[in-house]
Amino acid sequence: MTNQNEDILTYFQKLDRSFFMDELKEFAYMDEAIPIGHEQTISQPSLVLEMTLALDLQPGSKVLEIGTGSGYQTALLAAFSDSVYTIERIAALHERAKERLEKAGFSNIHFKLDDGSTGWEENAPYDRIMVTAAAAQVPDELIDQLAPGGKMIIPVGTPLLQELLLLEKDKEGKIDTTVLEEVRFVPLRGKYE
Ligand code: SAH
Repeated sequence: MTNQNEDILTYFQKLDRSFFMDELKEFAYMDEAIPIGHEQTISQPSLVLEMTLALDLQPGSKVLEIGTGSGYQTALLAAFSDSVYTIERIAALHERAKERLEKAGFSNIHFKLDDGSTGWEENAPYDRIMVTAAAAQVPDELIDQLAPGGKMIIPVGTPLLQELLLLEKDKEGKIDTTVLEEVRFVPLRGKYE
């Protein structure tokens, strides 16, 4: 493992998942997705770790996250990058995640309450993009907002089953796609449902 990956693993092991939950806290230590209300879930810890490692964060990375949810994944992204731009469409989840992450001392996270299916154009390009809800196809806008040399992780497929994709954009803008595994995320609402 690289030093960065070891640091991410150590941080992940210390990160208290129950801090990101208001209900069902007794299940926080199970390696499962757990409901957080509004028909949404806090992602499975092992998958959050895996996706974070696969994104290959760099200390200078500017990261876009679609689907703030509880803020659990956001914390990992923010701890190992320069800045995170995170979008959530459900007001109550957006508010709670913002409160939690500010309480935890993060000052490099920019929160937006909106439909993030077409990204966050005004701050593009992003070195890394993490989508934590399932799309029917990779949004064109997200590909456009990815910097040359950038990487994106996104689950793509049907509402029941998706392939977790790693997209890498080279210096010329060519996209290389790798299928990492099969996953099941809640749907990405909006243009790419
Ligand atoms: N990483 C989060 C996962 C939350 S589940 C966690 O571990 O807590 C996915 C989240 O994506 C949900 O909160 C859902 O409301 C949000 N979401 C779905 N479609 C969205 C969209 N178009 N724009 C922004 N957020 C969206």
